[in-house]
Amino acid sequence: MSVPEQFSAVSKIFDVADMVLYVADMETHELLFMNQHAEQVWGADWHGKRCFAVLQAQQSAPCSFCTNDRLMHGGRAGPAIVWEFQNTLNKRWYLCIDKAIPWADGRTVRMEVAIDITERKEHEAFREQYLGLISHDLRSPLSTVTVAASMLKVLLANCGHADGARHAEMILRNTHRMADMLDDLLETTQLESGQMALRVSRFNLDDLAGSVVTQFANTTSRAIELHADGPAPVLADAGRLERVLENLVDNAARYSQPDMPVAVRIATHASEVVLTVVDRGIGIPPEELPKLFQRFYRATSTRAIRGLGLGLYNSRLIVESHGGRIWVDSLVGSGSTFGFALPLRPTNAL
Ligand code: ADP
Repeated sequence: MSVPEQFSAVSKIFDVADMVLYVADMETHELLFMNQHAEQVWGADWHGKRCFAVLQAQQSAPCSFCTNDRLMHGGRAGPAIVWEFQNTLNKRWYLCIDKAIPWADGRTVRMEVAIDITERKEHEAFREQYLGLISHDLRSPLSTVTVAASMLKVLLANCGHADGARHAEMILRNTHRMADMLDDLLETTQLESGQMALRVSRFNLDDLAGSVVTQFANTTSRAIELHADGPAPVLADAGRLERVLENLVDNAARYSQPDMPVAVRIATHASEVVLTVVDRGIGIPPEELPKLFQRFYRATSTRAIRGLGLGLYNSRLIVESHGGRIWVDSLVGSGSTFGFALPLRPTNAL
């Protein structure tokens, strides 16, 4: 079988598939092949035309998002690039897989396979909007309840109603907890929708940990020790990392007895800064450890304590977006150590 015959045989398979497949010259952008599905979407009048002119809206030059430059490495075809994109002509979302391949006449061409994921994207957008609205709108009545409960607590205490003041304190604690859960939900929707532009600055992680520990010391009776072996400079989003620290310290306090201390340790190594939060609490069964950083996962050992299972998931997304890693070591009944590492940024290197 000649090469054109072979290609014609294979292209019949491409025509049956419910996906877009096209091939374009990487230098001239000329379209060399479009399967039947692609022709149904963009029309059969593509021969001799360039990919950007046929596939995108009002595009008279190569697209800014063209993957050509990233498909070749040192003159050789590199691995496939997988990306999601909303087509500018038909406005549908596609999961695109681009690869440089040798064409029958010897030149290198870009082959793109694109699967329509519009329904999934719409579903995700709806879920994000819905969660965002719920968590945002529930926040304002909750703030009113919190302010009223604080005033009530003071009034009752001043009138000598110790029992009443204790109940007001209970309302306050629970509204704080609810606000934390709403923050987690809101944060998850932001992180997952990619609305998280990092506001990066240079600071010492030990200073940030110091302020989180002080905040906890001021608002709870929990003993929290802080050990740092010196300044730990990082280039990171301080607000987001503060959330990670709050999550880890708050978990350490919630999942251990009130009289048990919590320790925050910071150590600088050759290439990274490592922060660990150590508690002597409930612990987590070994088979559950790999699942802890997944969305909504809650360990069986802690089901009696309220939570959403989003704090660690959000923390992982934040740490990974900084090029770092996060982990846990734990023993049921003895306690847990949660840690994360960030690339070290010595002050004079920035
Ligand atoms: P939440 O605490 O709101 O449930 P997280 O994502 O912060 O959500 O934690 C996920 C789960 O990991 C928790 O529900 C708990 O089962 C477990 N976990 C987290 N931190 C600890 C800890 N220090 N000790 C024991 N279990 C923990």
